[in-house]
Amino acid sequence: MKSHVKAVVIGGGVVGCSVLYHLAKAGWTDIMLIERSELTSGSSWHAAGGFHTLNGDPNVAKLQAYTVQLYKEIEELSGQSCSLHLTGGVMMADTPERMDFLRLAHAKGRYLGMDTELITPSEAKAMFPLMDEKNFVGAMWDPVEGHLDPSGTTIAYSKAAKKLGAEIVLRNRVVDLTQQPDGTWNVVTEQGTVHAEHVVNCGGLWAREIGRMVGVELPVLAMEHMYLLTEPMPEVEEFNKSTGREMIGVLDFKGEIYTRQERNGILLGTYEKACKPWSPVNTPWDFGHELLQPDIDRIAPSLEIGFKHFPGIEKAGIKQIINGPFTFALDGNPLVGPVQGLTNFWCACAVMAGFSQGGGVGLALSNWMVHGDPGFDVWGMDVARFGEWATLRYTNAKVRENYSRRFSIRFPNEELPAARPAQTTPLYDTMLANNAVMGDSWGLETPLWFAPKGTEPKDIVSFHRSNDFGPVGEEVRATRDKVGVTEIANFAKYEVSGPGAEDFLNRLMTNRMPKVGRIVLTPMVNEFGKLIGDFTIAKTGEDRFMIWGSSAAQKYHMRWFEKHLPKDGPRASEVRIHRFDQTLVGLSIAGPKSRDLLQKLVDVDVSTKAFRFMDFREMAVGGAPCMVNRITYTGDLGYEIWMAPAYQRLVYKAIKDAGAEFGIVDFGMRALLSMRLEKNFPTWFRELRPIYGPFEGSMDRFIKLEKNDFIGREASAKEHAEGPKLRRVSFIVDAIDADVMGDEPIWAKVGKDYGTVEKPHGYGAPRFDETGKEVRGSKAAEGASAVRGIVDGEWRVVGWVTSGGYAHYVQKSMAQGYVPAALAEDESAGLFEIEILGHRRPARINVEPPFDPSGEKMRT
Ligand SMILES: Cc1cc2nc3c(=O)[nH]c(=O)nc-3n(C[C@H](O)[C@H](O)[C@H](O)COP(=O)(O)OP(=O)(O)OC[C@H]3O[C@@H](n4cnc5c(N)ncnc54)[C@H](O)[C@@H]3O)c2cc1C
Repeated sequence: MKSHVKAVVIGGGVVGCSVLYHLAKAGWTDIMLIERSELTSGSSWHAAGGFHTLNGDPNVAKLQAYTVQLYKEIEELSGQSCSLHLTGGVMMADTPERMDFLRLAHAKGRYLGMDTELITPSEAKAMFPLMDEKNFVGAMWDPVEGHLDPSGTTIAYSKAAKKLGAEIVLRNRVVDLTQQPDGTWNVVTEQGTVHAEHVVNCGGLWAREIGRMVGVELPVLAMEHMYLLTEPMPEVEEFNKSTGREMIGVLDFKGEIYTRQERNGILLGTYEKACKPWSPVNTPWDFGHELLQPDIDRIAPSLEIGFKHFPGIEKAGIKQIINGPFTFALDGNPLVGPVQGLTNFWCACAVMAGFSQGGGVGLALSNWMVHGDPGFDVWGMDVARFGEWATLRYTNAKVRENYSRRFSIRFPNEELPAARPAQTTPLYDTMLANNAVMGDSWGLETPLWFAPKGTEPKDIVSFHRSNDFGPVGEEVRATRDKVGVTEIANFAKYEVSGPGAEDFLNRLMTNRMPKVGRIVLTPMVNEFGKLIGDFTIAKTGEDRFMIWGSSAAQKYHMRWFEKHLPKDGPRASEVRIHRFDQTLVGLSIAGPKSRDLLQKLVDVDVSTKAFRFMDFREMAVGGAPCMVNRITYTGDLGYEIWMAPAYQRLVYKAIKDAGAEFGIVDFGMRALLSMRLEKNFPTWFRELRPIYGPFEGSMDRFIKLEKNDFIGREASAKEHAEGPKLRRVSFIVDAIDADVMGDEPIWAKVGKDYGTVEKPHGYGAPRFDETGKEVRGSKAAEGASAVRGIVDGEWRVVGWVTSGGYAHYVQKSMAQGYVPAALAEDESAGLFEIEILGHRRPARINVEPPFDPSGEKMRT
């Protein structure tokens, strides 16, 4: 065993071996994988080996597609078979709602380059004759599904990595990790200490324990999971013989089961409601190649439905029931990337579908380690997406909820109840008393809308407009016509201070920093000129700045800020960053009467001249010390008021009391988001993501290329000089009773060829395409998925929706999304349609915001 290496990968399951392979392939060959036992000594050996490409997050779906197509490459390089069976599979819908869900997934597939197809139950039965098709209303076919040999696949990765120069050490447990002053690691193992620049936690079932070695409680939990194997079935053999094909994979939402052919019989697995965590606090180190006791009673309700839906399986004898543990994060997606607050400590764990996702995880992580950037939009699996609130018990509740809902539909207006309330502001009880319907915003209870008095404050979940439609409309109209107040504690808030603060922010942000007492809006881009943040910044003192941003991105942004802090020498102490989280809370008042209201609450002049649009002041509001921004996300006259939590009730009461004469209303997040739509304002993580350049995102006026050499300036200047390929645009849609939710395809019919534009997926760092070939240079900035160009006046998919909904004040259904820039800029471009729940609805590009297009109201 070497004593010094560039990187140590801990864990020889499918994920660790994939990470090792991808690191070696990217050129880091001085690397070592350390496994406490034999390879696949965690969950990998007893997996059912199924793989598929579908995922709720389109970016994760693309990495799954990469994984599936990688298997041929590792088979060739290693000489080890993965026993690939690419059978294809169907998802079966038993209700119209589940069919709507499949229509949405299919629509998304249109711009992701997936070949899914909506089919009838009879067509599905022809490929899987063991089902009773009368139980279903429809199905979706996906050709890129199948199964493989889990152990063979893990070994293929490991052999391929070894061929490229990586070392694998077996039967050697990592017992401790200690960081050196220079940021490198001493990896203490049973066989001695290895010094490494980087450490990767691929500990699978023990990922939590490895996290604890460095003082981190990772939000990951193992769950028991069962599948059964039948005796050989004559029906299966007969089907194989008569068609020359294997039976396909089937996923049945209602029964919460998946099933497929295994040898001459059937494999059937369940995601049962009565699910059970395994080793919820500590994973025993002596657990290895053993299985857990099957518990047929727990899966009996799923089996009952399964046997009714697939009567052909009921007749077969059960040969074996496998029960094994495997790990999940709160939302079922992996935890990948560098852990904020630590140096060179990386995660690739909580991978619940290692055979669908392991390749993509390995590729993204190796890009990140070798080139400093994952090269893809990996937010959906970034370890930074959960905050400190994701404690052991919180994780336990959320993982159980996620497991038991694995095959349930998540409606766009559905808030999930587990582990709530976790964080609350001082106004929580007041909001409940006001009949608020609360939502979870990065672990914080936040008012979404206010139900009319006397009605139950509850969403009726639906893909269509629902019971919030009327009340949200009223909140919007009352705010726009008079004045409204809302909680904004769920924004991220940071303070950057010190003599180096301004230089630091100028280096990170694309816009110029404001003068004392003024505010700017500014994107942040990475070295590749891609959007990685969007902030409101106020200069609050000579060496002090307040920053507000997206709540969910707090750890993601802190990681970036910390990475770029001056590290050594005299400048190291010049910049300090503080994240407030819930130690600073806020209220926003908006609407034409908001200035009159504020004036009643303060002892300073807040007239238009004294307190201008985009001004910042510290002032006492209702007697409480506050910071006030003259800005609001409603795009109206309005203010954001920030205070310590101890003052929030006082300020709220003062606002409501003083606002009574103006007819003040409470409004929630849904009204706020409706109002931002009619101003064409983008949102972070929907319109603005790391796959878009700032000019593509139509953020042109916030990019000051001439100001200084900010990170990503060169790439942004190039985008500007060459012209963006895409443009974020806003549409008015002729919707009927359902609005867009995001990820719908945009169709166009134009007589002119605007060329082919693809949905960007990867960018920047050298990476590999879906066939495993390395992609370099400008090709690397292109997407891997197909949004076809427009030819000869045919209807084609030309773009994708990022978000939308109903803009209540202007009474229009609106959508934002991306289309080819040339198309966005041509007023006579032609006709558009946006697909909503399988129906294409006419849509028009809307250049000027329909509410207050000149910004007059906001500025006066
Ligand atoms: C019953 C069942 C069915 C499944 N079916 C499927 C399926 O059909 N498709 C699919 O994609 N996935 C399936 N899975 C999930 C799949 O098994 C996991 O996604 C995958 O195994 C995760 O791999 P991993 O490498 O992250 O973790 P693991 O396989 O748990 O590997 C972790 C490794 O790290 C080692 N290790 C831990 N700590 C240390 C240490 N301190 N020092 C040294 N070594 C250490 C362990 O010994 C182990 O070998 C199934 C799982 C189960 C249980």
